[in-house]
Amino acid sequence: MAKFLFVTDLDNTFVGNDNALFELSDRLQQTRQEHGTKIVYATGRSPILYQKLKDEKNLLEPDALILAVGTEIYLDGSDAPDSEWSGKLSSGWNREVVVSTTTRFPELVPQPDSEQRPYKSSFFLQEEAAARVLPQLELELQESSLDVKLIYSSGIDLDIIPRRSDKGQAVQFLRQKWKFVAEQTVVCGDSGNDIALFAVEAGRGIIVGNARPELLQWHNEHPARSRYLATNFCAGGILEGLKHFGFLK
Ligand SMILES: [Mg+2]
Repeated sequence: MAKFLFVTDLDNTFVGNDNALFELSDRLQQTRQEHGTKIVYATGRSPILYQKLKDEKNLLEPDALILAVGTEIYLDGSDAPDSEWSGKLSSGWNREVVVSTTTRFPELVPQPDSEQRPYKSSFFLQEEAAARVLPQLELELQESSLDVKLIYSSGIDLDIIPRRSDKGQAVQFLRQKWKFVAEQTVVCGDSGNDIALFAVEAGRGIIVGNARPELLQWHNEHPARSRYLATNFCAGGILEGLKHFGFLK
């Protein structure tokens, strides 16, 4: 067994199957101690909502945290986001212009203040309206000279973030920092905001058995042998995938 970079989404991926989470955490802790594996959580959650889940589920302390859909990276338990990463996100981003553009769309309902972040503006958008609203919104944001992208997940969550930031690019940043090759990197997810994780070339991917239709559809349209579609749900699917790739016995 060699060390690897383990990156996982939290909601309905790492968390959601308590017995399997207990076993997986134990295995990960062991491989971290023995081989120097790095553990990273990559979630859409803000610091407040992450802390809540961490306490509730007694999650392992990660080596790094990717929060707010990849717009914030926290290293080694630090309370402050990594400034090298934040510095890469500022060009083409203007939060005030994003917010004023979105007010023209009554279908967009702002998420709570805790989820509005320096480099992320988040809304609820009903699935019925999404196909009509998203292209129009994207066009209007472009016309305001913003370099942003829209990430729509789970049939309700819309995040507007700088184009250069997402979970996948945040992982690339950590991979280079810690010097892991793509083949030693494994990412796990269940929904649309995890697509950026899986899109990273040559990296190993585990799609949990309970994945959302938008992720499965993307997987079918972009098949790759480096990606494993698990049968088991949440942490159970991750264990299955880690064994499939030989990261765990
Ligand atoms: Mg999820």
